[in-house]
Amino acid sequence: MKKTALIYDDVFLGHRMPESHPETSDRLRACIGEIRSSGLWEKIGHARPERAAEEDVAAVHTREYMKTVSSLGSGYLDPDTYVSEQTHEAALYAAGAVKTAVTMVDEGRAERVFCAVRPPGHHAERDRGMGFCIFNNVAIGARYARKIGYHRVMIADFDVHHGNGTQEIFYEDDSVFYFSTHQFPHYPGTGRASEKGAGAGEGFTMNIPLPAGAGDTELVGAYEESFRDAAARFEPDIVLVSAGYDLHRDDPLAGLEVTDSGVEKVVSSIVEAAGGSPLVFALEGGYNLEVLARSVRRTIEVLMG
Ligand SMILES: [Zn+2]
Repeated sequence: MKKTALIYDDVFLGHRMPESHPETSDRLRACIGEIRSSGLWEKIGHARPERAAEEDVAAVHTREYMKTVSSLGSGYLDPDTYVSEQTHEAALYAAGAVKTAVTMVDEGRAERVFCAVRPPGHHAERDRGMGFCIFNNVAIGARYARKIGYHRVMIADFDVHHGNGTQEIFYEDDSVFYFSTHQFPHYPGTGRASEKGAGAGEGFTMNIPLPAGAGDTELVGAYEESFRDAAARFEPDIVLVSAGYDLHRDDPLAGLEVTDSGVEKVVSSIVEAAGGSPLVFALEGGYNLEVLARSVRRTIEVLMG
C-alpha cells in the first residue's frame, strides 16, 4: 500500500460565494463527510496546509494582480469569480496546500497526496483570476517543485474545462509539461489540439479537446494512450494533477458522459503512467455534491493502491 495523505483545512470554508453560486463550501463538506463516513479517514495520513508565502505566489502571478486580490475586500473579479472577506486567506492556503504536498513527497512523508482545497486554481492566469479561480494552486506547486530540485514536472488536468491559466503560465517552459483533456468547444474557449507550447516550451503542452457527449472510451483512451506516451517521453520526476470531477456525466456544468468507472480508470491510468514518481492531486471543479464526494473518495482509494 502506498503512503497516502490528505491535506485539508476548514480555512477553505471561509471563501464564501453569493447565493446559488455552484462553487460552494458544501463541496468540501461533502468530500470530507464521505471520507469520514466511509472509514477512509482513519486509513490515510493527514496534514494541514501551510499558507503560501508571497514569493511562492509571485513565482506565478504578477505583483499587481496579487495586490488586486488582497485589497479587494469583497466583490467580483470577473462575472463568475467572487471574492469574499476570507477569500484571500483561503486562496493562500489552497496554493500553500500544494506546496505542502510537494514538500511531503520530497521528504518521504508521503508518496501520494490529495489536496482537498478551494478556491480552485487552473483558470487563474498570471495577471487575472477567472472561472471561480483566484491563484493557480497547481502552477504554484509546480514552480515550488522546480525550486526545490525537481527537474521535470508533469501536470495532468482532467477537469472538464480547459486549464487556460496553467497552460498560459507554462506555455514557453520545457520543464513543466501540461496535459489536458476537456470538453471543447466549451468554457473558457482555449485548449485546441494545435496549442502545443511555444519557444523552448514547444511540444510541452498537449491538449485533447473532446466534443460534448464524449465518455469513458474517449477519456480513458486519452490517458491510456496519449498521456502514457507523453509521460514515457518526458520522464517526469513528479506528477501534479488538476482533479476536476465535472467531467462526470451527472455534473450540472458540462456535457461529457464519463461514468464513475471512467473516472476511476482515468485516475488509475495517471497513476500507472507516473511510474514511481510522486503524485500530488489538487481539487479543481466538480459541482454535483454526491458525485464529487464519491469521486474524491475513490480517487484516494486508487492512490492508496
Ligand atoms: Zn471545471
